[in-house]
Amino acid sequence: MSEIKKYLACEGRVNIICAETTDLVEEARKVHDLSPLATAALGRVLTMSAIMSTRIKGEDTITLQIKGTGPIGNVVSVFDGNQNIKGYVGEPHVDLPLREDGKLNVGGAIGKEGFLYVIRDMGLKEPYIGVTPLVSGEIAEDFTKYFAESEQTPSAVALGVLVDKNGVKKAGGYLLTLMPDATEDDIKQVEEALKNLEPVTTMLDKNMSLQEIAEKATNDDNLMVMVGEIKPKYHCDCSRERFVNNLKKLSEDDINHLFKEQETIETVCQFCNKKYEFTKNDIK
Ligand SMILES: [Zn+2]
Repeated sequence: MSEIKKYLACEGRVNIICAETTDLVEEARKVHDLSPLATAALGRVLTMSAIMSTRIKGEDTITLQIKGTGPIGNVVSVFDGNQNIKGYVGEPHVDLPLREDGKLNVGGAIGKEGFLYVIRDMGLKEPYIGVTPLVSGEIAEDFTKYFAESEQTPSAVALGVLVDKNGVKKAGGYLLTLMPDATEDDIKQVEEALKNLEPVTTMLDKNMSLQEIAEKATNDDNLMVMVGEIKPKYHCDCSRERFVNNLKKLSEDDINHLFKEQETIETVCQFCNKKYEFTKNDIK
């Protein structure tokens, strides 16, 4: 299942967006043949993407890029405000020993050094780019810092992917943000609730609903439900035309060079692995 629900707690002074992204992350795992570690890393980013997709308008797009020094290479996702989400990682088969606590070592795969880029394209001439240094490479912490520094929004972020031998068992997360009118008591209430909260995947695995998770995360059983059902999906909108347009941007020398040894060239979409073949005439 994949769905997102938005709630207001503390009489509207605390906002929480909860997501289950199990199907979305499983689809990404299958498309890219991801190792369990790569599934966890990309799955957390895709879950963040699903949550952030509910905060932008339909046609607007955001690209998230995590460039760390770890063995997974770049982690990238692109999404729009209609919950079409896609992504890829540099090294889909990355593998590292488990951490001492038995968890997949996502921070080790991403690396502690590096940057998180949030590139917003809202149809203006130039995209808006926010950059923050990585905190731990564990992704949720890195986004918490991004929201604090780039958006001046105090927030709590949880992202989790539970992988077993059959693939993605559960994936999900939440983004909790304080409204400007949040009181000291609200903050105390939420901090206390989050301190005692189980990991999201544990709660999903117990078949808790998104509303139950939101209630636990805010210690408020009087939530306002903001919108109905939102279904995020793994979707790539690539086309032959788009690749031709990209190839057209190459210089004539580069194109001649490409066709020197072969009649056709093949391009592969990084997001869905679809292959497109072109002859020299296609590009002319
Ligand atoms: Zn594609």
